Amino acid sequence: RAPEKRLGVAIVGLGRLTLNQILPAFRQSQLARPVALVSGHPEKARAVAEQYGIDPAAIYGYDEMARMAENSEIEAVYIVTPNGLHRDHALAAAKAGKHVLCEKPMANTSAEAQEMIAACREAGVRLMIAYRCQYELFNLETARLTQSGELGAPRIIHATNTQVHGSGDQWRVRAALSGGGALPDIGLYCLNGVRTMLGEDPTEVYAQIVNPVGDERYKEVEETLSFTLRFPSGAIANCATSYGAHECKNMEIRLEKGSLELENAFAYQGQRLYVAQLQDGQEQMSEIRLAPQNQFALEIDHFADCVLHDRTPNTPGEEGLQDHLLMEAIYRSAREGVPVKI
Ligand code: NDP
Repeated sequence: RAPEKRLGVAIVGLGRLTLNQILPAFRQSQLARPVALVSGHPEKARAVAEQYGIDPAAIYGYDEMARMAENSEIEAVYIVTPNGLHRDHALAAAKAGKHVLCEKPMANTSAEAQEMIAACREAGVRLMIAYRCQYELFNLETARLTQSGELGAPRIIHATNTQVHGSGDQWRVRAALSGGGALPDIGLYCLNGVRTMLGEDPTEVYAQIVNPVGDERYKEVEETLSFTLRFPSGAIANCATSYGAHECKNMEIRLEKGSLELENAFAYQGQRLYVAQLQDGQEQMSEIRLAPQNQFALEIDHFADCVLHDRTPNTPGEEGLQDHLLMEAIYRSAREGVPVKI
């Protein structure tokens, strides 16, 4: 699409993800362009607007989002603020008549997620949750192979998303802004990833939380969590997430007649997909090579395509809501020390 015909997007929140990933990815987008910024720091916003050719008159504060209704260049917003603010920002955008692309996790709770879905439905705008891995090509190929039957039925999945966090001086360890610790922030990739690989939803969860004793950072949210998901097909997933363990973002799927290993499954880049398969009693190993593409650009273009052609996104609000319901069951299981049926 010619640049002036691309979907005009207002970016809400100019933090690390916006500055380092999302705005640069717009340069590779074919269907969308940034046309406005919403920020609590006007000076930073002016510098960013200049860098990306955005009209400085299209800079808004968080309490000025209603004014976006008067700017017809803004057709949609991309919400990239702390999780606990997603609901308010989505409601404000819907009220201004703008379509909504919202970062994961969708909100802090399933109740907030439901409000967002209702508000967007009432306003007649699209709502998509930015599950970037569902637009990433190696993840898509792994899901296709898992569900194709070529390697038999899937039995066990291991999904790990860990990284070491620094200081406690950040919204991620404040429950009101984050909704939780490692689980909604990075463990969510394991949960959503496993559901995507299998194409089904778990019927039972079992979880345990471990927090380092006396660590002030983990007074409000969890540091380390392991959880098991049982699926109707008989598959089981073991997931682990932590803010205190050396980085690992891998997924491994063991099927009846082979296995799939997706290295850096949840990372921004560096995916590698290995397949092991039994053929005539011999194990054959191969690596699947795909030309890497910017997954943020693919995700943004899917959203833009859905808005421009009036289609439901692959990861609508209901997908985010389902993960919130499951995360609530996971927390309940950890609290009560028992498996929880969904
Ligand atoms: P940052 O802390 O780096 O940035 C958040 C931005 O939100 C701030 O810079 C600020 O922008 C704005 N903001 C508004 N109100 C507040 C507040 N009360 N406290 C702090 N910031 C506020 O966070 P990230 O960019 O890492 O994360 C933002 C969102 O993106 C989260 O929902 C997170 O889960 C998600 N995320 C998704 C990733 C992915 O791979 N899809 C990876 C990383 C994060 P300003 O100064 O302009 O007002």
